[in-house]
Amino acid sequence: MVTIARRTALAAAAALALTPRSAAFALDGPRRHPHETIAARRRFFGPANVDARGHLRRDRVVLSWFGVSNFAMAIGGRVVLLDAWVPQGTYSGYVPADVDDLVALRPSHVFIGHGHFDHAADAPAIGAATGALVVGTAEHCAQVHAQSGGVARTAPVLPVAAPEGATSSLTFGPVRVNVVKHVHSAPEAPASGADPLLPAPDLMACLEHPPTVTDVLDTVLHQGDQEGGALAYRFRIGDFSLVWHDSSGPLHSKAPTARRVLGRWRRPDVHLGSIQGFGQYTNGLRDPMWYVETLRPRLFVPGHHDNWLPPASSPASTYESRLREALAALPSGAPELRMLRDPDDYVNPDRLTFDLGRADRRPRGPR
Ligand SMILES: [Zn+2]
Ligand SMILES: [Zn+2]
Repeated sequence: MVTIARRTALAAAAALALTPRSAAFALDGPRRHPHETIAARRRFFGPANVDARGHLRRDRVVLSWFGVSNFAMAIGGRVVLLDAWVPQGTYSGYVPADVDDLVALRPSHVFIGHGHFDHAADAPAIGAATGALVVGTAEHCAQVHAQSGGVARTAPVLPVAAPEGATSSLTFGPVRVNVVKHVHSAPEAPASGADPLLPAPDLMACLEHPPTVTDVLDTVLHQGDQEGGALAYRFRIGDFSLVWHDSSGPLHSKAPTARRVLGRWRRPDVHLGSIQGFGQYTNGLRDPMWYVETLRPRLFVPGHHDNWLPPASSPASTYESRLREALAALPSGAPELRMLRDPDDYVNPDRLTFDLGRADRRPRGPR
């Protein structure tokens, strides 16, 4: 009896050591989330970061990429979405996620970088189904609200036609958010020494994952969606900061005020920045590197560089060597790179898990 009791006690102690104390998890919404929310949160953020009731660890920031510059993020015990579109149209099912998964995550907010279809087309459905607050410019909010049939809740952070460099801020729970309007990618005349980037298309994803008629139609119907301004966001919790922007325009020539605002932000731990854009056809990665140079992040994570709509896009692998060269050539020194590659890094939270309790918050695993 004594031996069994001791064994039981040892087993209980071992289980406690493996499972973070419940105080490490934040209560958001109900005491116990529905089964589909628990399952979706575990898949997107890792089983170790979600307790048996679907609540999230407070002491970690976890991101899960689902294509283009779209991320689900667990921060401060909440789930938020950074953009909201699961890539589909010329294929279906290349990205292992769908709108139902994003609804099941029960996000509290959907932050819109800009209103084009590859960033915001699923925001109306997700906002309507979850009650998540959709955050963006007045133009983004009006578009999402109208497309949701007037159901989605929205919170404009900037008025209609705000100038570049206009700023705003908000908070949710322990998270502070800063916003600045910058510029969408655009082609400019080649600068001296310009090295255009024209990666080869790859149609294998379309052959291996042929599109459904519904997905083709849905993408076609959203082709007219308006940009509505481009926003860069900074998320801070404690002394951890992360900057995200889903387009990289000619910052130095077209958005000098936004550049000054970004330059005043304290050096971020993490910079999620779009590297695909119209500027690449004349000036390669010049414009995305202007953002890196201005922000001087510790860790850079590229976005928008995957095969999100072949043949208009190319896989991440076709960007990698040019990106590494461009970072290495930065006068202020190269940040560490956390490369994301499609499709392996879709919905792969291990790639972007940041432990707020560690001085070195870099995610573990290969770079
Ligand atoms: Zn766009
Ligand atoms: Zn885009």
